[in-house]
Amino acid sequence: MENIELKRFWEKVKEELIGSLPESVHPWIYSLEVSGYDKGVLSVVTGQAMARDWLKKNHSSQMNKILQTISNDSNARIHIIYDENAAKKIKKEVEKIHKKEIEAKQKELAMENLNFMQSNANLNLKYKFENFVVGANNRFAHDASLAVAKNPAKKYNPLFIYGNSGLGKTHLMQAIGHYILFHTPDLKVKYTKTDDYINDFISNSRKTNNSIENMSKFNKKYTNIDVILIDDIQFIESKEKSMERMQHTFDKLYEKGKQIVITSDRIPEEIPKLTDALTSRFKSGLMVELMPPDLDTRLEIVEKLANYNDIAADDDALKYIAVNFSKNVRELEGAFTKVCAYAELNNKSITLELAREILKCKENIDKLTFDKIADVTSSYYNINMSDIKSSSRSQKISNARQLSIYLCRELTNESFENIGNYFNKKHTTALYAYEQVVKKIKTNVETSTAIKEIKQALKVI
Ligand code: ADP
Ligand code: MG
Repeated sequence: MENIELKRFWEKVKEELIGSLPESVHPWIYSLEVSGYDKGVLSVVTGQAMARDWLKKNHSSQMNKILQTISNDSNARIHIIYDENAAKKIKKEVEKIHKKEIEAKQKELAMENLNFMQSNANLNLKYKFENFVVGANNRFAHDASLAVAKNPAKKYNPLFIYGNSGLGKTHLMQAIGHYILFHTPDLKVKYTKTDDYINDFISNSRKTNNSIENMSKFNKKYTNIDVILIDDIQFIESKEKSMERMQHTFDKLYEKGKQIVITSDRIPEEIPKLTDALTSRFKSGLMVELMPPDLDTRLEIVEKLANYNDIAADDDALKYIAVNFSKNVRELEGAFTKVCAYAELNNKSITLELAREILKCKENIDKLTFDKIADVTSSYYNINMSDIKSSSRSQKISNARQLSIYLCRELTNESFENIGNYFNKKHTTALYAYEQVVKKIKTNVETSTAIKEIKQALKVI
């Protein structure tokens, strides 16, 4: 018998012994520790010599009978051994098993509790910080979100995360929720889509009977929490009554020192008819923007997806997907999923050829050459294409050169070695130029506009 099994068996026998033997011997029964069960002999050890002698002398036949009934073995018998040290040792082991069982149970309960809270808070298990790839495009938003998760209501309140669709707003927001639930499970977290909030509000205010009671229930639901995550606030546009209610919810939570996180696909000023009061409240904490990920980040995202789902794919295939889907992570994931599904259904491995075949709609990007990029960029800056490849250091030309290098990397995923060769530069110079542009995009409107317009001219957006 396994240790645990033996222990359970003994517990059963012991229970019967206690039930049938006189109370005066119960302390001796409790002193017995099981040490083995072999060929019908159940060995039990006691640290008290008296227990062994008394039980053997007065109760052995009754004890054996009990064992025989439980084990269904008419020859089974209990062998009582006196050994002080062994008894102590066994007792310790039993306690250890007990402790382990209790710990396992507690862990299980904690997990159940966490699962319950996660589903209660309306969170998707995939949207955790661990699964969020950090790159230049989202580092600030990520760091701010993590800071909020580590210090709810103490750091940035409200945190307003904005950016185009599919760039990770919901993911980041829910990651905050998961983090808080895991590290401070006594805090109440609630994730709500703005649409759901509005519908809930409307359906509660429409109920004719008990409308006051309904409203107070509604208010409690959204204010008796420690952290509220309100997703896609732009959907509140032009809905005056809902805005009024939202302002009430916001003020109540803020007053009570609760954390508020909001996402939007645009800044508050661009949400139609958003009241000034809400605009200023949304802007009163920290606003962070999510930008489209650069190539390296996109590549890491698909690599992580492949790992997470245990999918083997050729590097070239992953690169192809990352190069071709640059504006929206949801679409990037969609392209990856499509290729995987096709490969699985047709029993093929994920190769560059397969990815090309499935996603051929984007082949125009595939055909982009350095020449084409350099050509379009020089016309944008009104310079000769030969200048861009020259060693001229004039501001305009070196700007155009930096941008071309950035775009070549971004749109073709060629090595910096090859890009450098094309522009008559060392690969370290090409890398430096690329990094400079990555930085400038975030801080310099002129650069980000130029990139956007050149991409439009190249028909990649
Ligand atoms: P949004 O709310 O901005 O429209 P989501 O948060 O729904 O975007 O993100 C779309 C998809 O892309 C989700 O599946 C999300 O997990 C994934 N995603 C977005 N950004 C990242 C990232 N940086 N790392 C990993 N996955 C990401
Ligand atoms: Mg979203």
